[in-house]
Amino acid sequence: MSEFDDLYQAIILDHYRKPRNRGTVPDASVRVDGKNPLCGDEVHLELRLDENGRIEDIKSSGHGCSISQASISIMTELVKGRTFDEGKQVCESVRTMMRGGEVDEEAMGELIALKGVSKFPVRIKCAMLSWTTFELAMAEFKAGRDGAGAMVSTEDEK
Ligand code: ZN
Repeated sequence: MSEFDDLYQAIILDHYRKPRNRGTVPDASVRVDGKNPLCGDEVHLELRLDENGRIEDIKSSGHGCSISQASISIMTELVKGRTFDEGKQVCESVRTMMRGGEVDEEAMGELIALKGVSKFPVRIKCAMLSWTTFELAMAEFKAGRDGAGAMVSTEDEK
């Protein structure tokens, strides 16, 4: 283990033990669910958007492994206050990182703690669950729906 691995592990455990933005959004614009059957990770996301598509509030609930739960916690912190399209750019950077590609590490914030996951293909779905579910929320909102009954599974992701 390098000292970077230790630092990244500490960030993941901190978010796992003290997840940020847990709970529900009473006047949510969209609510969606995601699951990762391979590991048993589940997430429920609730978001409130303003008229410009900016994420005013985002909360999560669910359960799963430390990678999935840390990823969700970090994601909610990163996308809050941003528009869906800005969040989508972060999502694409995470996907690139999981495929071993080069990313702007400074722009990744605490997400960089998940970089080591890219070496473990089975765990990539754990790390991507939050973002796949975020993309579902975006698709539902842009289609004028509130997400009722919408569920995404990482099994469907290539
Ligand atoms: Zn997992």
